[in-house]
Amino acid sequence: MGEREGAAGRGAWAEIDVAAVRHNARVLAGVAAPARLCAVVKADGYGHGAPAVARAALDGGATWLAVALVEEGAALRAAGIDAPVLVLSEPPPEAMDELVAASLTPTLYSLEGVRALEDAARLAPAPVGVHVKVDTGMHRVGADVDDVLKVVSAVRDAPGLTFEALWTHLAVAESLEEADRAYTAEQLRRFAEVRDALAAAGIPAPMAHAANSAGAVAHPAARLDMVRCGIALYGEAPSPAVGEMLRAAGVGLRPVLAFKARVSFVRRLRAGESPSYGRRRPLPADATVATVPVGYADGVPRRWFDVGGTVLVGGRRCPLAGTVTMDQIVVDCGPDAPVAVGDEVVLIGRQGAESLAAGDWADALGTISYEVLCGIGPRVPRVVVDREADGDRAGGAGA
Ligand SMILES: *Cc1c(COP(=O)(O)O)cnc(C)c1O
Repeated sequence: MGEREGAAGRGAWAEIDVAAVRHNARVLAGVAAPARLCAVVKADGYGHGAPAVARAALDGGATWLAVALVEEGAALRAAGIDAPVLVLSEPPPEAMDELVAASLTPTLYSLEGVRALEDAARLAPAPVGVHVKVDTGMHRVGADVDDVLKVVSAVRDAPGLTFEALWTHLAVAESLEEADRAYTAEQLRRFAEVRDALAAAGIPAPMAHAANSAGAVAHPAARLDMVRCGIALYGEAPSPAVGEMLRAAGVGLRPVLAFKARVSFVRRLRAGESPSYGRRRPLPADATVATVPVGYADGVPRRWFDVGGTVLVGGRRCPLAGTVTMDQIVVDCGPDAPVAVGDEVVLIGRQGAESLAAGDWADALGTISYEVLCGIGPRVPRVVVDREADGDRAGGAGA
C-alpha cells in the first residue's frame, strides 16, 4: 500500500481507521441523543493523532471536541478545525492569551482563573464562553460545591465572558458494582443540587455535562446536555464490565487503531536456546524465531514478555521468545512456520481469524486500554486509512 511508504523505513506503524471513528461517533451520538456528543481528543487523540480523529468524529455526529491543554486545542485550530473545543482543565494564567486567540472554550474553577481570562478576553472579538467545573467527588480539579456560586457570579460579572455551561466528572462510572453505582448516583445528586442552587440564584447553567464514555453508556441519568466520550470513540470499552454491557445491548464499537510491523530478520534456533537479554525463556522446541523492529521505546511494555505476551504472525498467535528490548522483540514462530523477512506482524488488531485488542494487553498487564493506546510512542508513524467499504456492513450507514 502506497500510504505505508512513509513507514517502510521503520518497519512498524499504527493504522488509524477513520471509518471506525465515524462509526463509533454515530453509535455514541445515537446512545447519547438528545444530548450532544463531545469527542475527547486529548493526548493527541489517545495516541491516534488528534486532527484525523477530530475530523472523523465530527463527520460521525460529534459537535464538540475536548482537549487537556491549550496547546492541544491550538493544534486543532492550526489543522483547520473550527468546531467548539473545550479545554478540560483551567489553563494557567499565561496560557489565556493563546486560548483566546485560538477561540477555545475554557474550563474555569477559580477566581484567579476568571480574572486571568477576563484580562485576556479584552482582546477577543466576541464574548468568551466559559464552562465552570464543580468537584462532586472526583477530587482532582474543580470548584468546591460551596464555591461554585462565587465562581459563576464572577464569570457573569466579567466583561467579555459568558457563562455557557456547568460540568463535573465522575470517578467510578466504569464500575457497575453496587457501592460504585451509589457513588455515581451521589455525584449526580450533588451536581443537580448545584444546578438548582444556581437557578435559584438567577444564574441557571445554559448547559450541563457530566458523563465520560462509561457515564454515557452505563448511566443514562448522567447524559444531561452533552457527553464527553474518549475511549469509546476509539473502539475500546471503558472497563470489562461496561464492555459486557455494550455486548449485551448489541452496541458494536470498532477498534480504530491497529499496531503493526514487519519481520526484519529470521533465524532457526534449536530447542533450549534462549533469545534476548537475560536468556529468560528456553525454546520448548526447534523453532523459527523472527525479529520485529518494535520495542519498549515504541510502547510494547517490557512486562509484555513476563505476562506471556503474544503477537500475530501468519494468522497465528505466537509467544515472545524473550525479553522485550528497546527497539526490537523476538518472536517464537514455532517449529515449522514459513516466516520470511517482510511478513506482517500484528501487535494490536486483526490478522486472519485472530485478533488482539488493546483491552487484551490491558487485562494481561494489569492496566487499562487507555494507557496501552497512549503508550504507543511517537517513533511509530500513524497511517490514516479509511475502511468504509467493509467497515460499514455492520452499521449499515454509508459514507
Ligand atoms: C479524559 C476525559 C474524558 C473522557 O473519558 P473516557 O473515559 O475516555 O471517555 C471525559 N471527561 C474528562 C474530564 C476527561 O478528563
